[in-house]
Amino acid sequence: MEYYYFGIGVQLVEILTNLIFQKDHCPSVIELSFNVDGLPLFKSSKKCFWPVLCTIKNIDNSYVFPVALSYGLSKPVNLDFLSETVNELKVLLQDGLIVQQKVVQVALHSIVCDAPARAMVKCIKLYSGYYGCDKCSQSGMWIGRIVYPQITDFTPRTNQTFREHKNKEHHHSTSPFCDLPIDMIQKFPIDYMHQVCLGVMKKLLLTWMRGSKTVRISAVQISEVSNRLIAMKPFIPRCFARKPRGLDEVDRWKATELRQFLLYTGKIALRNILPSRLFKSFLSFSSAISILISPTLCKLHCDLAEQMLSNFVKDCKVYYGEEFLVYNVHSLLHLADEAKVYGCLECCSAFCFENYLQKLKKMVRSGKSPLVQVVKRLQENKIFIPEKCMLPNILPRFQIMLTL
Ligand SMILES: [Zn+2]
Repeated sequence: MEYYYFGIGVQLVEILTNLIFQKDHCPSVIELSFNVDGLPLFKSSKKCFWPVLCTIKNIDNSYVFPVALSYGLSKPVNLDFLSETVNELKVLLQDGLIVQQKVVQVALHSIVCDAPARAMVKCIKLYSGYYGCDKCSQSGMWIGRIVYPQITDFTPRTNQTFREHKNKEHHHSTSPFCDLPIDMIQKFPIDYMHQVCLGVMKKLLLTWMRGSKTVRISAVQISEVSNRLIAMKPFIPRCFARKPRGLDEVDRWKATELRQFLLYTGKIALRNILPSRLFKSFLSFSSAISILISPTLCKLHCDLAEQMLSNFVKDCKVYYGEEFLVYNVHSLLHLADEAKVYGCLECCSAFCFENYLQKLKKMVRSGKSPLVQVVKRLQENKIFIPEKCMLPNILPRFQIMLTL
């Protein structure tokens, strides 16, 4: 793979210096969140980027910046592309940073990845393996696919059992992140963007549209749901990134559209269309996620949300069959714990990184040396942007370049 390393410390110093310049203070401890994910570049080939991105979680309006960028014809065959990041992070966690003659401590907030990338960077079995859940040691069951039928009484994994490889079938090898003094379970949260929105919500929609006869709705009903969604368009506030689209385009729905359906529009669009028992179960799912993504509601009703999700998974087993209980559905049982650790699910989701990934992709104009193109674009932005515009709370650099 081709590879470029931007560095962590050098960019953090720049961001924090600007912060001091603007507000005359900066936090004594900064909490970093990282993202590692694959980014396919072209529909006609397997060429992709594997960026390592970072953001500071505990300063307002912090933006995402690239730490390392790898480019290749397929998924990385080893984790060498993480070496420099892990080595530098190890030093930062130990020594902190010097900003304007003051020491700023560095802490790791989270490493946010989708399930396949998380399995890759943690060197563990994929969710399609028997011991694929990275939060509990339940063994999956093969019924044409791996499912997790146990809904209660599973044994949670801990940092110690993970580092000691107590469950040997769970590990492929030792993750480079084990070099860091971090909790190898808690610091890798379940990302609700991939696993709930693109995972469970999409699976439910496809089951209602194309599943078995007992849970499928008719073509007329699908069309009615689409009509209702499109009728809501004028009433969707501008704070939503996208307006609703019909179910005929469901295969192309983005995560934000699935989130909008799950939290807001689905309740109206499906009312009196889905059979009552399925609708009630969907309402439990929707309400529980609404609680867990809100910092305020999460503090008050996290246990209620946990109970609702447990009931939802039990209902899924009865209504849609055991084969519905795949890893994403099983991971709902761990969501409340994640929300308790991080304050809410939004605090550890990949939504902020996803926007940046799409912007990186747009920097690639042709198939010739994509890595060089992106590195040059990012360096140009740095050179041509006046210093005052580099303040983190104004606009990310790439947006400023487009504005200019
Ligand atoms: Zn589990």
